Amino acid sequence: MKSAPTIRPGRTFQLEDFPTESTAGFKDKDAARARLDKDLERLRELQHMLYADGRYALLIVLQAMDTGGKDGTIRHVMSGFNPAGCVVTSFKVPSEEESKHDFLWRIHHAVPPKGVIGVFNRSHYEDVLVVRVHKMVPKSVWKERYRQINDFERTLTESGTTILKFFLHISKAEQARRLKARIEDRSKNWKFSEADLKERKLWSEYQEAYEDALRECSTEWAPWAVIPADVKWARDCMVARAMVEKLESLDLRYPKPQTDLDLIVVK
Ligand code: AMP
Ligand code: MG
Repeated sequence: MKSAPTIRPGRTFQLEDFPTESTAGFKDKDAARARLDKDLERLRELQHMLYADGRYALLIVLQAMDTGGKDGTIRHVMSGFNPAGCVVTSFKVPSEEESKHDFLWRIHHAVPPKGVIGVFNRSHYEDVLVVRVHKMVPKSVWKERYRQINDFERTLTESGTTILKFFLHISKAEQARRLKARIEDRSKNWKFSEADLKERKLWSEYQEAYEDALRECSTEWAPWAVIPADVKWARDCMVARAMVEKLESLDLRYPKPQTDLDLIVVK
């Protein structure tokens, strides 16, 4: 299967040049499903080892335009995990208390401890995306945040937190289809928000903010992957594969027992 492109540190690019539509090299949904099932099984083993090993945490950051598929990815990919070792945090408009702190305060608090997988549904990147697009703080403030984010993520990485950042990349036409589905499909009505239509008018401003965030904050220690996300089943496969590859690269192991088990007899 084809893996999703990763932004090389320092590279300039345009999101337009990255595909939104990809089947990840699968001939159809069934072939992708078979592969996803295998990878989810492997992820469960790896999660177990991550927990037993106890040296690392895994932090998954999910960002996307509205309707981009963050919830769906969590449902299809993260749902296979043992809930005891996986924590999902959704970041909304900061609360009154959160707004009184620096923008990373609430984020740091939600970072998974060693042995645990943490999933961010939106993240500290909102503070250089929605905040920038809506001019909630002056440019002089959000510009510094790229460096602050890189320093923060570096600190986490050096303390044993492996970070995977996925931008779920959809086309504007696909967003229109998904918004229509939210209006037409009764089981999706609850997800429809008129605010999404307002945000849609700012599509190019958001794309530009994303380009800058991905360029400035794709680092050796925490690179961004751009997941083609128009095709939901392919998106899920690419996210799962990237997680398997990352966890396998950690060389996880079960700790040695503290006593010589050959000498122990259970009566
Ligand atoms: P949803 O993910 O659809 O529940 O919406 C959450 C909303 O919270 C989105 O409109 C985000 O842009 C917004 N949001 C998240 N983080 C921030 C932030 N740091 N500042 C302002 N708005 C935010
Ligand atoms: Mg929304």
